[in-house]
Amino acid sequence: MIVVMEPKATEEQIGQVVDYIQSKGLRVNINRGEHLTVVAVLGDKTKINSTSINTFEGVREVKVIQEPYKLVSRSTKEEDTIIEFKNGVKIGGLERPVIMAGPCSVEKDYEGLLKVAKAAREMGCQFLRGGAFKPRTSPYDFQGLEEKGLEYLAQARKETGLLVVTEIMDTMDIPLVCKYADILQVGARNMQNFKMLKALGRIDKPVMIKRGPAATIREFLLAAEYVVYNGNPNVILCERGIKGIDNDFTRNTLDVAAVPIIRKYSHLPIIVDPSHGTGKRYLIEPMGKAALIAGAHGLMIEVHHDPDHASSDGAQSLSIEQFKDIAKKLNKLIGRIDYDNKNM
Ligand code: PEP
Ligand code: MN
Repeated sequence: MIVVMEPKATEEQIGQVVDYIQSKGLRVNINRGEHLTVVAVLGDKTKINSTSINTFEGVREVKVIQEPYKLVSRSTKEEDTIIEFKNGVKIGGLERPVIMAGPCSVEKDYEGLLKVAKAAREMGCQFLRGGAFKPRTSPYDFQGLEEKGLEYLAQARKETGLLVVTEIMDTMDIPLVCKYADILQVGARNMQNFKMLKALGRIDKPVMIKRGPAATIREFLLAAEYVVYNGNPNVILCERGIKGIDNDFTRNTLDVAAVPIIRKYSHLPIIVDPSHGTGKRYLIEPMGKAALIAGAHGLMIEVHHDPDHASSDGAQSLSIEQFKDIAKKLNKLIGRIDYDNKNM
């Protein structure tokens, strides 16, 4: 349920509504938009009667929200969430789409990582990606450099100015990863690690949640709801493909339609990872373009200084040269997008 206040509602009137809801043992989330203030009611709605709230001074209407997700829904917050970083980079809304680039895993060769980071910087990217904790299907595969990898990322940030996106795999490691990362990435396999999502709600860094390989959009949005409900409004969604029926040609099926769907039903930024979404180098450019045209707020692309010898995901990683060539084309497309057209 949400309570939409009149544009001229006073702070006192808003306070009366909030006090009433809280007196019934429910929680509120107040959203002060440009024109209207919306009070979202969170908790067991049977404890409250919507008609009684309707009679409060300053209340325009009381709406019952049908969707199971509330805080991430556009019905609760009409304006796009735009996440701003210390260096002025922004993700979301009508901001220029961002590009996150880097290797799948951070590896022992720091110089290799730095080469990739410098190329990303040169191509105007804003973020360096790289996993220090790797979720691998087999326990015998490379598991990541852990803190050493985080240190490498921080060092590359220092040398290039790029912001760092890296994966968090365990609730226990949150303080450690927070020390180094600008965005904490929840991998597809952890999208429904609810304990970790709750804990990420209590940090003050943005969280990027990747869509689970078999997750519906509703489940994806509910994963984000966990983080926002627990106190962290800075959530980015990342479409990275879902399990399809055709493994002959692609690793996953990239759900490009998820982009406009999420933009319609949620105010959160949505970025697309065409690398994991397809598993094939040659598909990164066309699917990256498709994602941008569909309205993605950014792309995440795997790039390696020596893809044939990468510790993970070499087959879908671009070489530095390939990346530069594709980034040029993506930048050209980004430059052409009409940012004033909200229906883009
Ligand atoms: C990754 O981005 O390195 C990764 C492991 O992706 P996903 O969780 O989408 O498989
Ligand atoms: Mn990968």
